Amino acid sequence: MSSLSPDQYVADVHQIDLAALRVGGVRGLFLDLDNTILPRDTNEVPPALRAWVSELSVLGFRVCLVSNNWHERVRIVAGDLGLDLVAKAMKPFPFAFWRASRLIGLATRECAVVGDQLFTDILGGKLIGATTVLVQPLSVVDLPHTLLLRRVEARIMKGQKPQVPVPDE
Ligand SMILES: [Mg+2]
Repeated sequence: MSSLSPDQYVADVHQIDLAALRVGGVRGLFLDLDNTILPRDTNEVPPALRAWVSELSVLGFRVCLVSNNWHERVRIVAGDLGLDLVAKAMKPFPFAFWRASRLIGLATRECAVVGDQLFTDILGGKLIGATTVLVQPLSVVDLPHTLLLRRVEARIMKGQKPQVPVPDE
């Protein structure tokens, strides 16, 4: 099922091979929020996440949060991290990604979708011709329908393990 097969599969955002993304022509990131950059049950931005977002900026990546969530929480986190935001995104539909690409001034094929769900983030990324990065969910706390889909995702991923970054020489 290549439409659900991510270009990178990593344990968490800190393990994403940013150099490989750049080599692949990626200049922008569409980040999922819940269970991708923050566990669903917290609003608190940890220092490591703040540092990673700064690193993205230093490396020249343009970043937009694209979340299906519509609660105040998404605005709080986006504001705290100083990131553009498209909430209530209805991923995997492409509309929110199109809006996000206009916000950061890049074509969707120049962007990577980063998220923890195959049927929203990865499928959505494939539909817009973006690079896709799957991360393991940060928390087991999630919406009931998401927990159900996770069982299906687990079957599709068939015990694949996240990639481990190659240490610098
Ligand atoms: Mg998520």
